[in-house]
Amino acid sequence: MGVEFYACDCCGDSRYEEYVDHCGSCGHRLGTCCVENDYIGSSYAYDYGVRFDGSEEQIEEYEIDPEDYEIDDIIKDSGIDPKYCPFCLGKVVAKEDLFDYLLKKYGLTFDEVKAEYLAQKGADRG
Ligand SMILES: [Zn+2]
Ligand SMILES: [Zn+2]
Repeated sequence: MGVEFYACDCCGDSRYEEYVDHCGSCGHRLGTCCVENDYIGSSYAYDYGVRFDGSEEQIEEYEIDPEDYEIDDIIKDSGIDPKYCPFCLGKVVAKEDLFDYLLKKYGLTFDEVKAEYLAQKGADRG
């Protein structure tokens, strides 16, 4: 069995798969190297999952059976809780998020910008 490594979207380092997970909200891949508000102090991404609070909202959102969980249990496949995520907290801005924002702001599409970029590159080459 091979060991998988994943890059953390925040610092770019590749880490052992158990140390990296997606943020449950923004979807950025995040290593425990870069979590914010870290009062847990664990290397394992799983420990930063969303914890069950017994609310109807969570039961609906994560489609969980409340029988399976006790309060404060980590919800399976919830990803990293956005309260630890530097992207969700606005501590770090990802270039691709800025890019999406600019496309929307100026009413452009990825394909338009790509075509313009490639044409420009061609023009530069002469
Ligand atoms: Zn990192
Ligand atoms: Zn996030």
